[in-house]
Amino acid sequence: MNFILTHWVSTLTLQEFVKNPDAPCCVFVLVNGIAINGERRLAGHAGISHKSMFNCGFQDVSKRAIPMNDKLETYRSKRDFHSTREPSGNSGRRKGGRRFVIQKHDASRLHYDFRLEIDGVLVSWAVPKGLSTDPGEKRLAIRTEDHPLEYLDFEGVIPKDEYGGGTVMIWDTGPYRNLLANRGKDSHSMEDSLEDGLIEVWLDGEKLRGGFALKRTEGGKKPRWLAIKMKDEHADARRNPVSTETKSVASGRDLDEIAREEANEQVGLT
Ligand code: MN
Repeated sequence: MNFILTHWVSTLTLQEFVKNPDAPCCVFVLVNGIAINGERRLAGHAGISHKSMFNCGFQDVSKRAIPMNDKLETYRSKRDFHSTREPSGNSGRRKGGRRFVIQKHDASRLHYDFRLEIDGVLVSWAVPKGLSTDPGEKRLAIRTEDHPLEYLDFEGVIPKDEYGGGTVMIWDTGPYRNLLANRGKDSHSMEDSLEDGLIEVWLDGEKLRGGFALKRTEGGKKPRWLAIKMKDEHADARRNPVSTETKSVASGRDLDEIAREEANEQVGLT
């Protein structure tokens, strides 16, 4: 068998990986044309031990290694990329943009995932009731693990037995601006806002527009924030987009259609 190692994504060198079977890392290899993307145990699934990987002609490209984005460690540790079609975040997509996405997620409990592109990842909150356009409505937002930038485009079905199993819809997406950028004498980055626990952003989505504030009210492992519509020309107490605008801005489909079409795809009907 010829193994060709195409990517090495780890905080370790390949030698360290081979020497230390317990070290946490993430590998992306091409084995006889099949991409294996995920944790060490996936290499095991493909019938290769890490020792035999090294002995069977893996080319050591660790010097050209892509540094692993440590912010995604929790995200990766929760998922088996063999069975879910969610992105692993190894594509090396560049940071620099300012986009947001709100995904409607029909998991064990229906909720909305609000994600802001900050410093190369999607900083994420689970918002049980979704965002409101009414400045009088505070919506609970629970901070969850950072997601890879590729998640901006993810719509589909996560298998039932996987983490977050259920249908995911791109409910809204677009660019955003940091409204606190010019706060004080020095420039105030989104990272600063996250740390301070106060974010003010201008969303240019299809469903949601205008200023939105997020305020941290409780720290801990899953910090609690409140999301509130700021008062501006886009504030509207009568609109209730969460209940009246239920289709994907990416595909025009509702949750049922996404689930049905994905199921058909899997059994080869389409
Ligand atoms: Mn979710």
